[in-house]
Amino acid sequence: MDFSYLMKTQPDVIKLINNSIKKNRLSQVFLFDGVKGTPKYQASMYLCYMLLCDDHNMCGECLNCKRLDEGIHPRVYQIKPTGDGLSQSIKKEQVDELQKEFNEVGVESGIRIIIIHDIDKATLSSANSLLKFLEEINDNTYAILLTENLSKVLQTIRSRSQVVSFKKIDEKTLVELYLSKGIDNELARILSKLTNNSSEGLEYSKSENLKNIITLVKKINESFFNNSNPIIVMNEDGKFLLNSKDKNDHEIFLNLLITITNDRLFYLLGKYDEMVFKETITEMDNYGVDIREIDYNETFRQIEVMLEYKERLNYNVNLELMYMDMFINCEG
Ligand SMILES: [Zn+2]
Repeated sequence: MDFSYLMKTQPDVIKLINNSIKKNRLSQVFLFDGVKGTPKYQASMYLCYMLLCDDHNMCGECLNCKRLDEGIHPRVYQIKPTGDGLSQSIKKEQVDELQKEFNEVGVESGIRIIIIHDIDKATLSSANSLLKFLEEINDNTYAILLTENLSKVLQTIRSRSQVVSFKKIDEKTLVELYLSKGIDNELARILSKLTNNSSEGLEYSKSENLKNIITLVKKINESFFNNSNPIIVMNEDGKFLLNSKDKNDHEIFLNLLITITNDRLFYLLGKYDEMVFKETITEMDNYGVDIREIDYNETFRQIEVMLEYKERLNYNVNLELMYMDMFINCEG
């Protein structure tokens, strides 16, 4: 496995893991916290290699290293949120299943590691089961919990874990990197907001889907100023999005819609350097939209409405109705 990105961007995390292992003071429950794109999963795999390798040094030759390379180590357990459509959570049955596997007879002995993705998506009952389970694990078991939303992780889980915060790469650094790859200013800034991982950002930059989402966001933004209606724009130009069952698409759409609305405030305040959709907002003047008519309080209220609807994505919702409702509320 390639750990070069992890080594380069998170030297403090590596140091913490290495020192704890060396001093034999490794925490049994880690909570890795960092924005989207930070290499939290790579770090948990790094810990697996360090703990499971016969030499505790990622030799790459021993049976344990080879099994990790193939992604099939029987003593590494993983849980990810599951569910239909947009509403994904870690369910109690998944924790029960893990517990059952742990107690099965004939399980290979030795260190065992549990990796739980998006722990903030654990339901209350699964979090409670998990906590009880973590109380009972033996010295040879480690749990690594991953999250992009530390504030949404239950306090009881947080206090049970050693929280490790992953460093964010400065957005300006990301923008410069994208510019050096020939990506235009506005897209470069958008990408730097979407992920903290530059290779993921470069992938996004080629995505037709992202292009469509950006175009839609701009059209909706415009519709607040010209005579078109955001609901109609959504139903005509946003069909692809309404049909998408990928929650990520909707999160990106709403994040960017909030960003461009926020940019209108920055424009009003003269904070041009803070703007992401700088070119789009500035150019709106050119096609007869007088964005100096922006009402500060009204725009602020719209952002609050959008943030509220973004939360609703976590529940099973009818998207068409949700967006319609949101735009009606935006209009005030
Ligand atoms: Zn090894």
